[in-house]
Amino acid sequence: MTKIKLLPPDLINKIAAGEVVERPSSVVKELLENSIDAGATEIKVTIEKGGINLIEVSDNGSGMSEDDAKLAFVQHATSKILTEKDLANITSLGFRGEALASINSVARTNIITKTKEGEGISVSSENDRIIAKPSAGINTGTKVTVLNIFEKIPARRKFLKSESSEYRKIIEVFIKTALINPGISFQLIHNKKESYNLAKASSFHERIIQVFKEYESDLIELFFSDPSIKVEGYISHPSGNRKDKKRQFLFINNRPINNPLIAQAIKSGYGTNLMTQEQPVFFVKITLPTDQLDVNVHPRKDEVRFTNEQLVFKIVFKAVRKALETLLSSEITTKISPAFPQVAGKENYKSLENRTNNFPKERKASVGDSIEFTRSLLAPKDNVNEDLYTDELEVLQVFDTYIITEQNHNLLIIDQHAAAERITFEKIYKKFMDEKKLPSQKLLLPEEINLHESEIARLKSLKTRLESFGFEYSLKSNSISILAVPDILNGKDIKRTFMEILEEIDDKSLAKEEISFLNKVISSIACHTSIRAGVGITTLQAKKIVEDLLKCNQPYSCPHGRPIIWSLTNNELEKQFKRKL
Ligand code: ADP
Ligand code: MG
Repeated sequence: MTKIKLLPPDLINKIAAGEVVERPSSVVKELLENSIDAGATEIKVTIEKGGINLIEVSDNGSGMSEDDAKLAFVQHATSKILTEKDLANITSLGFRGEALASINSVARTNIITKTKEGEGISVSSENDRIIAKPSAGINTGTKVTVLNIFEKIPARRKFLKSESSEYRKIIEVFIKTALINPGISFQLIHNKKESYNLAKASSFHERIIQVFKEYESDLIELFFSDPSIKVEGYISHPSGNRKDKKRQFLFINNRPINNPLIAQAIKSGYGTNLMTQEQPVFFVKITLPTDQLDVNVHPRKDEVRFTNEQLVFKIVFKAVRKALETLLSSEITTKISPAFPQVAGKENYKSLENRTNNFPKERKASVGDSIEFTRSLLAPKDNVNEDLYTDELEVLQVFDTYIITEQNHNLLIIDQHAAAERITFEKIYKKFMDEKKLPSQKLLLPEEINLHESEIARLKSLKTRLESFGFEYSLKSNSISILAVPDILNGKDIKRTFMEILEEIDDKSLAKEEISFLNKVISSIACHTSIRAGVGITTLQAKKIVEDLLKCNQPYSCPHGRPIIWSLTNNELEKQFKRKL
């Protein structure tokens, strides 16, 4: 007698199901994929109790004949591939032919389906026999109902999380699927309440906005295409960053894919425009010839393997960098228009105004851009602000407040205080991030300030946090003596800075994250230690400010959000003086 036995089909299914069906959201994913593969244009998902009690997906796709519907329950039964060659050239979402068999092995599953020509039927398996019954009065399409997941496998059911956490995972799957299929309408109903109702959209962008209204005006378009790869989609402005990676959507050949390496490439494309802990928002689609990637590396198909991963990484990185460079340099240029009218005739003012308003929210790369892009691919340079920076810098200070200079055919007018504030802010920020504290300087004479009781209480609770910024103090019942300050603040207006910090870090921001606390403290220090408006400076000082500013991560606005640079293109000057129409 042999020891090795072939497993019965039912057991094979259960083992495979362990890989495919991890939790309710995996069922939703498989059923959605099937509906999309069936050419559906309308898909409705109904969920009860986070999918633990009920998952139902109905579509208006092709439907199945009775024989097909019965076969659909069988392991490795698929209509999508036939030969090994097909495996290297997969264009459908499904191909393994194991989803329905696996789902059916872990939960009571019923398929009601009808093709255009055929009659409606209802198929389910009872005591391991597949049974089909007529089902009258249904439209073309398919409805799959999955009841009480893992009911037959208590060990697995125990691993399910709470209803709300399972539902959150379903929403994730639903959103990813909806984003990459804008041409399909999607509805999601949970516990009889509608969560999403997304009408058919005309573009990827429109679908993104349907799902996340907050990005309506904030996304930057990304586009690169050559015969071997296409990268397109939208990324956030650096200022739209988040602390988490929840708004990072990557699609490869129309599949939602997790790929930390590519996510990293996108983040790297932002360079110093993002701090280490800041995460970009992105919706990126990559399209590759099917022989350039292997989708059959993961039973749930949410990972892929690239034939040339390094190349994909590099192209994505460059595409992001390019999009941001275009945006950030045009951002300086567009800061101009509003305050212009004194010298412009009425009509000109109007045209200026129109131009500002018409400035496209998204920018599409032109042919020229992609030639330039290829060139920059061949000669990698890594500094984002490099183009802005030249050695021969001519500067002029006017009104003791503004610095005028020329960069890249733009005339820049720079607010000296805002610029200096930004420079100091980034310098202090970096120092703090590197060393986790700022150097402190003891005061010869402690600075005494009378304070309100509530302020004293607040300062008591902030003592250690403020100490890391170099502030040391002792508190009495209604006054404070400041004993030491960040060394950069020594000799400056300590009292005002301290009071401003105290005001800025109101209770609300304290409750918030460390980062906003950090920003507020550092921007107050930066504000009071930077050169003011109305102060004459030497040419050398002015040059230094311009140079340092152009090296900043965010040279366009000061830490309080006021603009720093107003720029005019040569073209605009020519129009202004009617050299050009
Ligand atoms: P796969 O999708 O990998 O082929 P599945 O087990 O998910 O495997 O589905 C098996 C087969 O059932 C599919 O190949 C398809 O022919 C059919 N099928 C499943 N769901 C649908 C649906 N919603 N509409 C039409 N046909 C479907
Ligand atoms: Mg499938």
